[in-house]
Amino acid sequence: MTTKHNFGAGPCILPPSVMEQAAKAVINWGDSGLSILEISHRSAEFESVILKTQLLVRELLNVPENYSVLFLQGGASTQFSMIPLNFLVGKQKAAYLDTGYFAQKAIKEATLFGEVTIVASSGDKGYAYVPDNYNLEKDVAYLHLTSNNTIEGTEIFDFPNSSVPVVCDMSSDIFSRKINVRDFDFIYAGAQKNMGPAGMTLVIAKNSFLETVGHPVPAMSDYRIFRDNQSMYNTPPVFSIYVSMLNLIWLKSVGGVEGIEAVNKKKAELLYREIDRSPIFTGTANVAHRSRMNVTFRTNDQLTEPEFLKFATDRGIVGIKGYRTVGGFRVSLYNALPLSSVEFLVQVMYEFAELKKD
Ligand code: PLP
Repeated sequence: MTTKHNFGAGPCILPPSVMEQAAKAVINWGDSGLSILEISHRSAEFESVILKTQLLVRELLNVPENYSVLFLQGGASTQFSMIPLNFLVGKQKAAYLDTGYFAQKAIKEATLFGEVTIVASSGDKGYAYVPDNYNLEKDVAYLHLTSNNTIEGTEIFDFPNSSVPVVCDMSSDIFSRKINVRDFDFIYAGAQKNMGPAGMTLVIAKNSFLETVGHPVPAMSDYRIFRDNQSMYNTPPVFSIYVSMLNLIWLKSVGGVEGIEAVNKKKAELLYREIDRSPIFTGTANVAHRSRMNVTFRTNDQLTEPEFLKFATDRGIVGIKGYRTVGGFRVSLYNALPLSSVEFLVQVMYEFAELKKD
């Protein structure tokens, strides 16, 4: 069991009770006499797991009836090409909002399939903000957004009221806050932040949007095939789906998305307050766009960063080093991270700042 304060960006942080149940199921799953790793995905037992997981997604995110919930593979990165392959091919162009590292990856893949318009970019300021003022042409097949920029530590809080279909990468903030699924035609997320172990990708798609695909698509990239086969066109990632189900049951037990959003707000506020108060740390994202899931900051002189990293590591804090291309610190506050860990980190930051006074 984890004995550290894990602020890592994944994969994958889960509550201790979920880890325990998952570990038990690897040895012996329920009354089956088998490990969860060896049961048939075509068994009635697993069919009820995948159905329950789907129902939990629907319930927790209030997914309307006219949307499909799919469990795919290949991570969110596969969606970067699968989305344009389905929805851009045969259309005029697609619009993308460039808000950072993962948005750029999505853009790069989309250009392989058709014309891409970048409606706005925050690259001019090192992706420290999210552009919210841009013109959208009417003839685009979709607008692609990244709701939370995991590396840069920015988040979109107001989604556009758009007349074109909105496609959103929610890999690092899905299930962390309430969303209105109706604002989107297509949502996708790698499981491994707030849902479950890596290996599964969640897709929530409006059925009418799926029907806009007018050309043949290879089976493994065809959303409609996964929809029509209850996400079991081929062998699904059984373990990832099973543990996601356990985790969503836990999420429901702590008040669902609304309940966890309140805790997530508290965690983020506590940490940003210390960053803003401290004479030695500075947040890197614009205040209005600060992410509640990934908090990015630096020491003012940057020279003391290795020293603070060691100071924190010696006290049982892990996973706070900033992304390799960005530097500084990135503290991830995913659902399963308790408020007490943030309180501890804030205390350690305070102690370090006091030391540096002398
Ligand atoms: N999009 C976002 C916002 C992410 O944070 C990540 C990974 O952290 C990805 C995409 C890539 O996901 P995957 O590793 O599942 O392909």
